[in-house]
Amino acid sequence: MHLSDSGDGAQSRKFKKKVHGLRREILRFTKDLIGIATENPPGAKYSECIEFISARLKDFGLRTRIIKISSHGDRAHRRYCLLSSYGKGKKKLYFHAHYDVVPGTDAKHFKPYIRGNKLYGRGAADMKGGLAAMVYAVRAVQLLNAELDGQICLVIVPDEETGGKAGSGHLFERGYIKKEDGIGMLMPEPTSGTIWNACRGALSLSVKIRGKPVHVVLHKDGVNAFEQMVSLSAALLKYKKTVERRKTKYAVLPGESRNSILMLGGLCQCGTNFNVVPGVCKFTIERRINPEENFARQKRRLLAIFDRFRQTGMKIDLEILQEGESAGVSPDSALARVLVRSVGDVTGQRPRFNMCPGLLEIRYYLQNGIPAYAYGPGLLAKAHNPDEFVQVERMIDCASVYGLTALRLLAGKDGS
Ligand SMILES: [Zn+2]
Repeated sequence: MHLSDSGDGAQSRKFKKKVHGLRREILRFTKDLIGIATENPPGAKYSECIEFISARLKDFGLRTRIIKISSHGDRAHRRYCLLSSYGKGKKKLYFHAHYDVVPGTDAKHFKPYIRGNKLYGRGAADMKGGLAAMVYAVRAVQLLNAELDGQICLVIVPDEETGGKAGSGHLFERGYIKKEDGIGMLMPEPTSGTIWNACRGALSLSVKIRGKPVHVVLHKDGVNAFEQMVSLSAALLKYKKTVERRKTKYAVLPGESRNSILMLGGLCQCGTNFNVVPGVCKFTIERRINPEENFARQKRRLLAIFDRFRQTGMKIDLEILQEGESAGVSPDSALARVLVRSVGDVTGQRPRFNMCPGLLEIRYYLQNGIPAYAYGPGLLAKAHNPDEFVQVERMIDCASVYGLTALRLLAGKDGS
């Protein structure tokens, strides 16, 4: 594509037109994807889904590689990643998307349908609509015969909804994605029209205090796990005050807090009856760590509180329910600037940068020095929702945004 002399406007118009020509195909592909119920947990229909995506990319004439992760999941729930690429050269721009979805609560969640301008179904917003937009962004670039100085690399992963260990974690651990050549990463999480350039880390703990249950009249022979929990909680609440004074410099959505988070008692369970000294007390702790805080240090500090109480004889079992590091990147990298320009050209709007309130897989790339951003067609409020949908026009727009961003960032010698 030779567009250097006809300017930005012509480039984006031409690209949008190409994407619009693919509209029916994009919608069909998204519906078919939603129809494969890749519920996680447990990680269902992964092989069917990955084969389906791979077949489509092969139809386009692209190379694909399916990576089977034998170390995770039983035979019926194997994990698979898919790598594919378009273009040649050293520079790599990653288009990263997950194909697992949170479980549906109704069989109709996997029978997608369009009403008005909305495509309904589990994963429409998070993130099969976005995944389809990325696949077809690559297709549009290919159909325009664009000469790229580098590659667009599709990275399709499972297990994002449960921490990403057997998906993105595996790819980085085994060196499938390397720091050296990566010039950036985009992922289509449901960002509600904004760009996420940061995410909080999460450390979720389940705490079990083991006491000794006896009848209340014999209470002197028992060990009251509830009363021990109260003294442990007092120390945690004191620490909470210190933690929650810290504020992030990243922008958050209206109504959200910039403060770091330590929450107690999301789940709480204790005792067997009113007249029995409680022998077990269980509760959860939710620590959400700002990008400016050091995850490892914060984890150590929190765990040290339990050690202190163990030394006094308290019997505490800890289970880590989930952990993931915080991450953040400047809104001023080359990729961020090109992304903002492309969003502006396609939608007429200037997107804001925000911190994602939850964990985000940009962290795997940022830890490896690759600038990474999330920008996707869905609305955050609709992700994981019973009436999850994606707006069709937003999907089509996003396909144009991704493709244009890639063309501009990997512009070949002829300015294409
Ligand atoms: Zn997601």
